[in-house]
Amino acid sequence: MKAICAFNVNNMELIQAVTEAAVELDTPIILQVSKGARQYASMPYLVNLVESAKTVLPKLQVKLHLDHGDSFEICKECIDAGFDSVMIDGSHLAFEENIALTKRVVDYARQFGKEVEGELGQIAGIEEHVENEKSLYTCPKQAKEFVERTGVSSLAISIGTAHGAFKYKAPNPSLRFDILEQIHKEIPNTPLVLHGASSVTPSDVATINKFGGKIENAYGMEEKLLAKTIPLGVKKINIDSDLRLAFTAKLREYLAENPTHFDPRQYLSAARAHVKQIVINKISTFCV
Ligand SMILES: [Zn+2]
Repeated sequence: MKAICAFNVNNMELIQAVTEAAVELDTPIILQVSKGARQYASMPYLVNLVESAKTVLPKLQVKLHLDHGDSFEICKECIDAGFDSVMIDGSHLAFEENIALTKRVVDYARQFGKEVEGELGQIAGIEEHVENEKSLYTCPKQAKEFVERTGVSSLAISIGTAHGAFKYKAPNPSLRFDILEQIHKEIPNTPLVLHGASSVTPSDVATINKFGGKIENAYGMEEKLLAKTIPLGVKKINIDSDLRLAFTAKLREYLAENPTHFDPRQYLSAARAHVKQIVINKISTFCV
């Protein structure tokens, strides 16, 4: 396996789309939930939907992961609820505070054999960060110290990927492969995590706009560029925006082309099938 894809999920249809694609390609995947997902669906629904997917698809190889945990308490809650791993995001804190918070989560998780992803450097995403973007990249030396002192199982790094669909001002953004190489050299045995690794699928953006949407100036990182990070230590690739765009594109197209339909099962089936196809493409590009 090259890398593992981690898909953000919020509801049954997304979980079905991702898990069916994974089984079809016989590939392990990570389903991850953010704060927004927990607020939208609630923890019991999310945990039980993933359990249901395992029942329906016995061959499914899946791990449930907390994305961007922002406190010890939420990480503990997820570990106690049966999550396989958690991310503690202390990247906004000072270095020492980030280490202290992350280590506290690692110490707790370790008792239950659960893995912890930390983050160092700030993953930009919005235009206002551009001015001082250099200071937001992960420092390779600090990465080594951070991993040694916290004991994290994996590390989210900042090398130019960004969250959201409106992360870049212009098409064809690039990545700091030089920084990635240095990080990998410092911590060759630590799996690195790329957040914000959506490509903002141009065809889905076009479909959304064709059928009444208005998504302008949305650009992502090209998949072939993202794939080049894998030999340099990136082992987890996070994808969220591309699933949202895929779902919305198909939903808009379906409703526009079938104005008399009002059964959610019809349009949600169409959206789910399209998300599944996008997931198959992602897994084929990054994981097999
Ligand atoms: Zn992220």
